[in-house]
Order: sequence, then C-alpha cells, then structure tokens
Amino acid sequence: MSRAASVSPALPEIAPARLRAVRSRLLAWYAEHEQPFPWRTARDPYAAMVAAVAAQQTQMSRVLEIYARWMAAFPTLHALARADRAEVLRVWGRAGYPRRAVGLHEAARICMEQHGGALPRDPAAIMALPGVGPFTAAIIRCFGFGDDAAAVDTNIVRVIGRLAFGDLQPARETSPAAIAAMAERLMPAGEAAHWNPALMDFGARVCTPRPRCEACPLAPYCVARPRFAAGEVAEPVRAQGAFAGSDRELRGRLMQALRDAPGDAPGLTQEALLRRSARGRDERARARRLLDAHAAEGLGWAAEDGRWHLGAARVVRRDVQGLPPS
Ligand code: SF4
Repeated sequence: MSRAASVSPALPEIAPARLRAVRSRLLAWYAEHEQPFPWRTARDPYAAMVAAVAAQQTQMSRVLEIYARWMAAFPTLHALARADRAEVLRVWGRAGYPRRAVGLHEAARICMEQHGGALPRDPAAIMALPGVGPFTAAIIRCFGFGDDAAAVDTNIVRVIGRLAFGDLQPARETSPAAIAAMAERLMPAGEAAHWNPALMDFGARVCTPRPRCEACPLAPYCVARPRFAAGEVAEPVRAQGAFAGSDRELRGRLMQALRDAPGDAPGLTQEALLRRSARGRDERARARRLLDAHAAEGLGWAAEDGRWHLGAARVVRRDVQGLPPS
C-alpha cells in the first residue's frame, strides 16, 4: 500500500450505514457513467502501467491517444524491452515529460532481467520499478491483477477530502497521508477495479473544482456539502508556472530537434542542434546547459565525435540479455 498510508493518521469516524450508502451510491453512479478505457478491463498489468504513466500530469483526453500509439508500437513488455531508447522516445513523441517514457523502458528491461519477463505482483517490487509511484502501483495492482489497492490521484484527493474531511480544496488543506488512509478505508473489498475509476470519474464530472453538489448522489453523506450550500467557495489551487520561456519548453524543442533527425544519420553537431532548438545567444547558452540534463536522464547522448543522438548510448537492443528474437 502507499507509503503515506503507513503513518496511520487519525481519521474521522464513518458510521457503517454511511459507509455502505457511499459505496453503493458511487458504484451505482459508475455503472451508469463508466468510461470504457481499454486498460480498465484488459486485466493486463503492462497495459495498466502504460496508462497510469501516461496519465501523470496529463489530461485524460490525451492519455487515450498516447496509450493507443504506445500500445501499437510496443504491445507487450517484451516488445518494449527489445526496443532501443531512440525508438521509444520517438513513439512517445510530443506527449511531454519524456522521462516517463524512459521510466517505462527501464521498467520493462528490469522485468525481463529480474522478474521472469513479467510485471511483479508484489507491491514492494512494483514500487521499486523506475517511474512507478503509489498511484501507478495501485493502478497496476487493481486493473492488472485485480488486487485491492486504493489509488489516489488529484480527482480522488478532491472527492475524498470533501466527502470525508469537509475540506473545500483538499489539495491544499487535507493531509496526503490522511487521504491515502481514507482511500483504503472507503474502498469496498474486491471492488478496486471499479471503485478506483469510479472515484476518478466522479471527481472529473461531478465533484469538480467547482462541484455540482445539486446533482451529486453523495450529497446527503458529504461533510463539505453544507459549506458549499452556505456559499463558501474552494480557493483555486496554485496554477503551474508559465510554459512559454521555461526550461521545460526549451527542453521540448531540444527533444524535437533530436527526434526529427533521421534515425540512421550520424547525429547532429551541437551547433546544429542548438541552431534548430534555441533562439538568441542567451537561450543557446541555456540550451547548452540543459543538454547535460538530457544526457543524465537518458534522453540524448553525445558520441565521441561530439555529435548528438536521441536516446542513450548504452540502451540498445543488444544490451537486453535472454530475450527471444523479434
Ligand atoms: S456534495 Fe458536492 S462536495 Fe460533496 S462529494 Fe458531492 S459534489 Fe463533491
């Protein structure tokens, strides 16, 4: 279970009748509003991992597109482990935060080398994989293996923080450990594969940042409902910093230039790479520094002749031992 839950914070009491009502009402709502995402019913731990990683810091409308492209290119853990890093990064494309693709790639290779070619079922072993945090681990466990594991994403934080703790903006007000512990307490045994997505979808469609309490089936049991009804409002969560002009934007342009270079070409000189991605002297100086981060994270590498390539020099097909041929 999640690390946060292990601190056992004090939780508000929930009477058994209230708990039963919340569970049955939310599952009934989900039965009517379920979104048919393929990873939710595939019972495939690999598909669940791909979807959960794609969903990090990404809107669900884009997750479907990333997931479909990825699964078409790498339909199995074996296929992903056999791919080279440059290919993996080209398929990830403009999905953002390309370290997520690196994490998936490294996780696949570790599964080949240490777990007999499959994702492990043991929670600690799942959490030890690169790029896998409590949310992704819970999604792998519940959708992939059918195990009871409570997932916590931003939507679930909002629903549980309001419903059980009465906070209006739980992302700012409710302790993450308390949310994680309450998520486990609320989840009905044997229902994680329905319960987790029910909470996620409910947070996306009903208990939204400006909640639709008048249409909410959980309203009679919600601690925050009287506060919203009295006219209180949820303070907005602090917005992300501007993208334009940020290092993240510049790193995106560096990645684009590396992706656009043909795979069998001898790479780009640093000069050519900077010319294609940075504007002006200051930005070029900044881009030069950011290339070090690219190399450290396995996103790009410079050969002995100084030419830059997409991916990581040591992550090529021949490094994967014991794999059947493609
Ligand atoms: S009553 Fe309002 S605040 Fe409470 S769970 Fe429903 S939508 Fe969210």
